[in-house]
Amino acid sequence: MKLKYIYYAACLAGAMAFASCSDDDIDHSVSVIIDSGRVENDFDRWLYHELVLPYNIEVKYRYEDIESDMDYQLVPADYQKSIQLTHLMKFLCLEAYDEITGSKDFMRSYFPKMIVMTGSAAWQNNGSKVLGQAEGGRKITLFEVNEMDPTNIALLTEQYFHTIHHEFAHILHQTIPYDPSFDQISGSMYRGDNCFDYYTTDARAQQDGFITRYSATEGAEDFVEIISMYVTNTPEYWDNVMATAGDGAKIIEQKFNIVYNYMNDTWNIDLNTLRDIVQRRSVEAVDLDVDDLTIPSDEKPEEIPLS
Ligand SMILES: [Zn+2]
Repeated sequence: MKLKYIYYAACLAGAMAFASCSDDDIDHSVSVIIDSGRVENDFDRWLYHELVLPYNIEVKYRYEDIESDMDYQLVPADYQKSIQLTHLMKFLCLEAYDEITGSKDFMRSYFPKMIVMTGSAAWQNNGSKVLGQAEGGRKITLFEVNEMDPTNIALLTEQYFHTIHHEFAHILHQTIPYDPSFDQISGSMYRGDNCFDYYTTDARAQQDGFITRYSATEGAEDFVEIISMYVTNTPEYWDNVMATAGDGAKIIEQKFNIVYNYMNDTWNIDLNTLRDIVQRRSVEAVDLDVDDLTIPSDEKPEEIPLS
């Protein structure tokens, strides 16, 4: 089943108003908000040290109605699978950008602040399933976490990390726009939601100058698909796509030049270097201990000696 990306524009449903009330009879030593028996576990502590403190990113793996999509029937994410996927996402996405930018500041500034994990796939009426979706620049939801195999990096990249790179690239161009001439290269060839009906294979889309079928939706999707496809695939894969594309290769290369210059000039990120990093990490990821919840001792708060 082909992964389908859904990008929802952030939508403000109206400001919530909190009525003020008298604080008579309130015990200020106890929170008035009662959590339903939630106990902090090793994964919570690891997340706090490895994602909240350095990046200000919250991973929600416990099922919460308010953060899930009411349009689908969904089941909670498995605890161990959530740990494994978080490790891999951190290693293959966050730390790849850390490596090229030289610090965690870039991802701390721009990466979505919330990752929501859900156990099952989100099935749509047309029989396709959604494996990842993003809302504005705030939240990324990853579905079907319970089915994932932490050793199959290629499949995980196709299912999840491609989507994460795709969504993150949206945040970058929404922060600083790309050259509008990009959208004119394919101009009236963009087909909106009909792209999957019109192009039945990626090869057909590539022959028309789109790196994937989804690229044919609109300019912004085309732009971020090029970034994501470029960094999550090997140079050999890219060369094969160009060979498949035939006359379309010239169009893809023309678009790629704009994408490459945008990333290089705007964000000081060389896509060739980023691709090398992501590809190297994809090989190394097989040896990663994806179940490890050890917090490095130098990151633990200093213990105060007893007097
Ligand atoms: Zn998108």
